[in-house]
Amino acid sequence: MLLAGSDGIHAATAYPHPCLLLDTNGIAALKSRIATAAWARASWVELSNSVVRALNRPIELPPRGGNWSHNYVCPTHGARLSQGKQLAKWEWEHICPVGHHVLHGDPSKATLDFDGNAIAGIHGKYAQEAVNAGLVYQVTGQQRFAQKARDILLAYAARYLTYPLHDNQGKPGRGGRVASQPLTEASWLIDIAQGADLVWNTLSGEERKSLEDKLLRPALDEIILPRPQGIHNIQCRRNSAIGLVGFLLGDEKLISIAIDDPANGFRKQLEKGVLDDGMWLEGASGYHFFTIAGLWSLAEAARNCGINLYAPKFQAMFDGPLALAMPNFVLPNFNDSGMVPLQNQSDLYELAYARFHQPAYAGLLAESDRRGQLALLYGETAPLSKAASTSALKSASHNSPASGYAILQRGEGKDGTWLCVKYGPHGGGHGHPDKNTFVLYARGEVVATDAGTHAYGSPLHRDWDKTTLAHNTVVVDETSQEPATGKCLAFGTERNVDYCITDGGAIYKGVRFIRTAAMLTTNLILFIDQIRCEGPHTLDLAYHQMGEWKTNGWKASPITCSAAAGYSRLQQTFRHDSKLATSTFKTRLNEKLQPSITLANNEPTEIVTGYGLLKTTEDLVPMLLQRRHAQNTAFVWAVALDGTAVELQVSGAQDGSGNSVELSEVAQVELKAKGQSWTILANPSQRAVKLPEKPGEMKQAFLVLQSASE
Ligand SMILES: [Zn+2]
Ligand SMILES: [Zn+2]
Repeated sequence: MLLAGSDGIHAATAYPHPCLLLDTNGIAALKSRIATAAWARASWVELSNSVVRALNRPIELPPRGGNWSHNYVCPTHGARLSQGKQLAKWEWEHICPVGHHVLHGDPSKATLDFDGNAIAGIHGKYAQEAVNAGLVYQVTGQQRFAQKARDILLAYAARYLTYPLHDNQGKPGRGGRVASQPLTEASWLIDIAQGADLVWNTLSGEERKSLEDKLLRPALDEIILPRPQGIHNIQCRRNSAIGLVGFLLGDEKLISIAIDDPANGFRKQLEKGVLDDGMWLEGASGYHFFTIAGLWSLAEAARNCGINLYAPKFQAMFDGPLALAMPNFVLPNFNDSGMVPLQNQSDLYELAYARFHQPAYAGLLAESDRRGQLALLYGETAPLSKAASTSALKSASHNSPASGYAILQRGEGKDGTWLCVKYGPHGGGHGHPDKNTFVLYARGEVVATDAGTHAYGSPLHRDWDKTTLAHNTVVVDETSQEPATGKCLAFGTERNVDYCITDGGAIYKGVRFIRTAAMLTTNLILFIDQIRCEGPHTLDLAYHQMGEWKTNGWKASPITCSAAAGYSRLQQTFRHDSKLATSTFKTRLNEKLQPSITLANNEPTEIVTGYGLLKTTEDLVPMLLQRRHAQNTAFVWAVALDGTAVELQVSGAQDGSGNSVELSEVAQVELKAKGQSWTILANPSQRAVKLPEKPGEMKQAFLVLQSASE
């Protein structure tokens, strides 16, 4: 049915309600899921009980909008706070988990407005309650549940425009009304629209008009539609809010903006934002799933209204993480992200399995309790195979040029060894200056880590996470790298040794940093880091290995680090004697895992150990710094997961005319450990060189494994 659009130009279509979260077929399927599957029944009982409990609770909307979640951190320790007991009407205690001290909010400053965070939670809870009450109404047909949803929605319609606009920094006139930024306003509005849709048929014309004019359209017109953000996880949420209101009101113009806008729409987000390996372009595991969480509500609403947004690239977003995961099914914490266990995302895979039917997803569901919202609304009730998830995991080395991850992997299942060198695109605003950094996993543990991220309101985010020093890569002149895109020069296997050679790209003007990583066995990894500069610089190679330093036998004196970004956050720093040919250090993760780090001191090297930061200023990770003042150099070092002593010998090579080639171009390394030995030549520029051991032979390969005694 075509009606006159609200702007008088665009056509309007009246879609049958409900059509956003579920249509009438979806409601029927939900009823049968609750009747047949124990897990769905359990979720339903919990959900409907919570709605019943809310029925008699008065609706009391907060007096103001909420604060930004990233401001909810302890100013001293950088740790996320938790809400304590209520002190007054809109005032609570807030507890820091590090100092166990109690903080009180100060609404005059956004970074201290902790009560504003509690208020944000209350706005979110009311929106969710409207959805839940709407669902219970649809399943039971009882008017009292529709009434509850209606009461919440109309209370917001009466109140919404009285909440002042405010942003993440507390500045008035911009940001959001219920929330402090368009992203969060959109997330809230998605729930409001879904709740309204579930009870739409019980609303009078006047009530619908009030919701439309005093809440839905002002939220879009003032906050969510203006200044779109292009290809970005936030725009995906905005699109869903815009599109859901479009389907709810039958406004074809809004639907078209949400889905087909040529710069910002849903289809363009998938086309441009999903890389060829299925990963979201921001390069942060957390934002990958946050983006999916922003996309799905529009895909479902469109599906209910006859538009298929379940494109192959949407499916790729569920396949990509299975290939990138560590052997324990956890995604690494590169860029602005924590570690992401895939198990925690199993609810999104419920929807993916229902729409794409990939057996690989079923294993994740089989190992979960299936108690999430998407399982309840969309979950398949046919029996699931557990075996499928294990087969989805890779067990061999693989390279993913789209995102720029070179993964070296050996060994079976969770006991395998997994090294991921990151060389790809910077990742926009959520990227870190960390080219050629890596995360190393072995024997069920993360051994070498990235700092991940702190809350964006915490100074640790700028002073640590976003510095190059917080990563396992090179820092030049104590200044962080420029955002850059590197490339993989070589990736392969020679006689059982898997290796990758990656170029960090334009990380500093006039500096080229090429890392060769070789996994010799499940215990042994060799790094040859070749750096060439246009002039002399201070080159710091940083490495963070979990656990705590084993300090026995140390000949070291305490030193104070500089005030440069990142360096000022280092703790317990010591300088070590480096006159020996090699230096060996160890950290202790647990009784069985005490990996050693062996450095070849083939050139004068200043060695510094200390501790960097993990989640808070008290949660520390051992850090090792190799410092050289040089123009061209090669750092050669090895990590032995079984803690064995490793011998390293570095030598150069000669070109065809008998001139020696610098180590920064061609480095030959002899490594001995536990009676085995390897001789490896790293030659990233593929210079024609004579091999010291076979002078008659010229080689041009990236990497030559000359000998490997078994
Ligand atoms: Zn604290
Ligand atoms: Zn990072």
